[in-house]
Amino acid sequence: MDRQMFDVDLECGKCGKHISQLPFQPSGDRPVFCSECNREYRETRTSNRGERQMFDVDETCAGCGTAITQLPFQPTGDKPLYCRECLVANRNK
Ligand SMILES: [Zn+2]
Ligand SMILES: [Zn+2]
Repeated sequence: MDRQMFDVDLECGKCGKHISQLPFQPSGDRPVFCSECNREYRETRTSNRGERQMFDVDETCAGCGTAITQLPFQPTGDKPLYCRECLVANRNK
């Protein structure tokens, strides 16, 4: 589904590129950025803050046998993997 776009007449606060549409109504008290600068900003922020990227995996918990479909890291295959429940249980031991 397409997001609603607002017609605006603004300049990107970073590169100065003209912006004619935004996916939100600009409030005027914050600089707005073009889609390229926004993407760049998001990527920088993601790597800086260490926001967790999830990897799709097809693994089995070594503790209870539950299927693991996502991990916050790429499994290397040389260590047993545990589901969240088992990790929590192990930590509370
Ligand atoms: Zn820009
Ligand atoms: Zn488990």
